[in-house]
Amino acid sequence: GSVFSHVARAPEDPILGVTVAYNKDSSPVKLNLGVGAYRTEEGKPLVLNVVRKAEQQLVNNRSRVKEYLPIVGLAEFNKLSAKLIFGVDSPCIRDNRVTTVQCLSGTGSLRVGGEFLTRHYHQRIIYIPVPTWGNHPKVFTLAGLSVKSYRYYDPITRGLDFKGLLEDLDSAPSGAIVLLHACAHNPTGVDPSIQQWEQIRQMIRSKGLLPFFDSAYQGFASGNLDKDAQSVRMFVADGGECIVAQSFAKNMGLYGERVGALSIVCKTADVAGKVESQLKLVIRPMYSNPPIHGASIVAAILRDRTLYDEWTIELKAMADRIISMRHQLFNALRDRDTPGDWSHIIKQIGMFTFTGLNVRQVSFMTREYHIYMTADGRISMAGLSSSTVSHLADAIHAAVT
Ligand code: PLP
Repeated sequence: GSVFSHVARAPEDPILGVTVAYNKDSSPVKLNLGVGAYRTEEGKPLVLNVVRKAEQQLVNNRSRVKEYLPIVGLAEFNKLSAKLIFGVDSPCIRDNRVTTVQCLSGTGSLRVGGEFLTRHYHQRIIYIPVPTWGNHPKVFTLAGLSVKSYRYYDPITRGLDFKGLLEDLDSAPSGAIVLLHACAHNPTGVDPSIQQWEQIRQMIRSKGLLPFFDSAYQGFASGNLDKDAQSVRMFVADGGECIVAQSFAKNMGLYGERVGALSIVCKTADVAGKVESQLKLVIRPMYSNPPIHGASIVAAILRDRTLYDEWTIELKAMADRIISMRHQLFNALRDRDTPGDWSHIIKQIGMFTFTGLNVRQVSFMTREYHIYMTADGRISMAGLSSSTVSHLADAIHAAVT
């Protein structure tokens, strides 16, 4: 017998498993609204034009080599990523008190940040919102942190449980880490208003909590990169410390290139330098150094005014198509007189709609309509198109009546 014969079969990942089930379905009308990846009106994955141009530049550059990057990745990429999230004139960049290291997309950035905190931060408790991206508790637990939760979403109003959020942060132990979605909260699509962010900031600073931003959707929420970074910039402007995990998976469509960055904003340049030296000790035994290709694409786009402008136009087009799908789905349910208030479909922000459909309704829609989504009723608006809206609306209508 095998020395591994005792190994139990693990369940599929709750999010990526949706695609596994979808791939097995032979129905011509099947629809995958599970995974958070952008699709065109034709239902196809999209490589941005600006990414193709940047790749062409890289191929044409004969002097380009495939050497190892440093442990912290491509220096120019790190500098430009920091400018993108914090703003070109950010005080933390000017004062050289932020360290930015290239990591394996958003997930890898969260993990490296978590491992660093476990080793070097005095309070190993992280608060995550309920609900949140399903990987958050696993990433932080395995990084060595103790995961607790704060109230975030109110199923009755289908909006923010702002009172619950503030109460839970208020009763958190001093110094606790707080995971915040910078924008386009996943899975709810519910973000605090700027006024609410300001109150959250005051609470976090007055309690001495440590904000850890997950920025996986900059530019995807509103179509505007600066607007979607506002929450993070408020926490930098007050001079306090914070951590940011950035992903270029969605906003540049670089999913499989695994390109992201971890930034730790410190009080002084001296501290930031020491923090970076310790980040290297976290990264080196984990994967040695990050891959070169995706970071080179991002750097080529961010450094060049023309490519950068082109990127913002393509990014806005993706965000706008998602917003248009929200309106089309909302209108389709209204046309069917589907019972219930569906206005949250057009109020929510970012890639996902948190429909409010329950597990039973979700499995009904999968069984009868071949529509795939996560069990919590989250649908990816990016996976929808004008030609599939009516099928989805029919399914939702049948599920709730
Ligand atoms: N954080 C959130 C909230 C996400 O939704 C995702 C992707 O779905 C990620 C992080 C990480 O994505 P990636 O590791 O592909 O950058």
